[in-house]
Amino acid sequence: MERTGSPQVPKKGKVKPPWRAEGLPGTPGGRPKINWWRFAITLLVVYAAFFFVSSFFDSSQVETVSYTEFTKQVNGKNVKEIYATGLSVEGHLKSAAKDPGSGNQSYTDFRTEIPTFANTDQLSQQLSAAGVEIKAEPLTSGRGFFLNLLLALLPVLLLAGLWIWIMRRGASMMGGGGLGGLGKSKAAKPVEAGQVRVTFEDVAGIDEVENELVEIVDYLKDPDKYRRLGAKLPKGVLLAGPPGTGKTLLARAVAGEAKVPYFSASASEFIEMIVGVGASRVRDLFEEARKVAPSIVFIDEIDAIGRARGGAGGIGGHDEREQTLNQILTEMDGFSGAEGVIVIGATNRPEVLDPALLRPGRFDRTVQVGLPDQAGRTAILGVHSRGVPLDGEVSLDRLAKTTPGMTGADLANLVNEAALLAAKRGKEKVGMADFADALEKLQLGAARSIVMPEDERTRTAYHEAGHALLGMLQPGADPVRKISIIPRGRALGVTLSTPDTDRYAYDEQYLRGRITGALGGMAAEDVVFGVITTGAENDLEQVTMIARGMVGRWGMSARVGPLTILPNDGQPQASPATLAIVDEEARRIVDECYENAVRILRDNRDKLEGIVAALLKHETLDEATAYGAAGLAKS
Ligand code: ADP
Ligand code: ZN
Repeated sequence: MERTGSPQVPKKGKVKPPWRAEGLPGTPGGRPKINWWRFAITLLVVYAAFFFVSSFFDSSQVETVSYTEFTKQVNGKNVKEIYATGLSVEGHLKSAAKDPGSGNQSYTDFRTEIPTFANTDQLSQQLSAAGVEIKAEPLTSGRGFFLNLLLALLPVLLLAGLWIWIMRRGASMMGGGGLGGLGKSKAAKPVEAGQVRVTFEDVAGIDEVENELVEIVDYLKDPDKYRRLGAKLPKGVLLAGPPGTGKTLLARAVAGEAKVPYFSASASEFIEMIVGVGASRVRDLFEEARKVAPSIVFIDEIDAIGRARGGAGGIGGHDEREQTLNQILTEMDGFSGAEGVIVIGATNRPEVLDPALLRPGRFDRTVQVGLPDQAGRTAILGVHSRGVPLDGEVSLDRLAKTTPGMTGADLANLVNEAALLAAKRGKEKVGMADFADALEKLQLGAARSIVMPEDERTRTAYHEAGHALLGMLQPGADPVRKISIIPRGRALGVTLSTPDTDRYAYDEQYLRGRITGALGGMAAEDVVFGVITTGAENDLEQVTMIARGMVGRWGMSARVGPLTILPNDGQPQASPATLAIVDEEARRIVDECYENAVRILRDNRDKLEGIVAALLKHETLDEATAYGAAGLAKS
């Protein structure tokens, strides 16, 4: 029930590495790590050194001499042997001589060119007369055979090293979505040093779920006990429940409790690239897990690949999803439970899963993880405030009471926000006021510091007061907890109502009340200003959803009857004629509620004005001041 401003831009998803692991045996390093950067640089340095040294050999030992000097040495009978190719000659002297051409440097090995006009017949006579041995092959100078081979091979080796290095780097970057890792994926990342493992101590408020997993912990601790008796344990357990209810936490706790390695990956991470990659990653993941079995493999968001085939939606190409899913099924079929790899899958939409996943020997056990009830919320708040110094006045019970519908993740966040606020306020301990403000920020969003034009502000006040007053006057509606006309996020104002107790099912009267309340903002603007603004977009979405649900899902329209016509997920199941009736019925309900809203607001204009005046003065009203401003005592 918020008055909305501009349309929202969808948030981009976060990118995670392909999988994470903790509790692997051995050193934190796992397998020895090769620093490929250093490797490449070493290669380069060695090559350069060889090159330098060998060229030094060349230039220092083999003297390039003039033809005149050469004939002089031949005539002096000082030449031992020569090697000739074409007109190039290299050779050795019997004893070192000084080369007048290069500052009288002494030399024994030399190289020279025979001018084309020289009389080679005469030269060869001179050579044989001097007893010089003549060979018609090139001189391999001072460098030995191996040195030459190395020099020839080094560039190739260097290139090969560089190539391997790039491949390996690509593989390690794969998690970031790089394209380098098309080959084998990298070994699971080792645990960070000092990482504390999660146990059942850290999971609160969902004891029934915990109990269902105790058996698995026991099995992982001592698989032999079960093997001896031939008992078969589930290979796969599916945790189903809304996001933030602690499914990941539970999987980690099972592994931590049993002290076995834990591998985790999100199904969507398997298939962000090219067909076939997902399957190969799945294979690698299971290979790693089997090496250190007994172990846990946790696959989050399994519905991303495990949707019923032929169903709509999902990410990645169709083939890629199917191949990845098939690989998971193959892996699960492939290991006999005796190996001790247990797969835990998590999903918040179990109903869309491919039945193949749920067959015996696969995820044959489903555990529902629900929202925590009030006692559960108290326990979760307790777990998360273990390390937080709380003021004596703080009552976790009272906090739990005002937070129905919140998940474990929300509650963890609440404690953290409150601690942050207290720290910012320079307090030693976290007090109830910090919790209240943190809760407001979480439930309503962080305030935006924009200056609203006065008429816009007034209109927002009437809009929110309309929601609030209808909420207060509807029998059975959730009490109004907070009204605010401070802009937050894209909302210009917010009215928050939450139930006193946890609600599990809703009756028709309650739902009509919700629709009437949601229409209250629009109705107030209509009654007071006679115009309708775009501020009610969100409200209308809610109204439409509830009204269509009442008619098409919950059998609350006599004309349609108790039929599921608009299933939770998927295509409408009815003839166009029936669908038209659903539309008519939904419209009738909404029209009735709208008329009702306008009538109540007209009849209680004084109460509406009371709330508006208080809102314009204080901007945010809590439960007591809001009911007070309307002149109503909260029952
Ligand atoms: P899910 O996998 O169901 O989306 P997570 O396990 O990721 O939820 O929960 C996120 C965080 O919320 C956890 O790391 C933990 O801090 C907190 N949390 C959720 N449920 C619980 C719980 N039952 N007990 C304690 N903390 C919880
Ligand atoms: Zn609204």
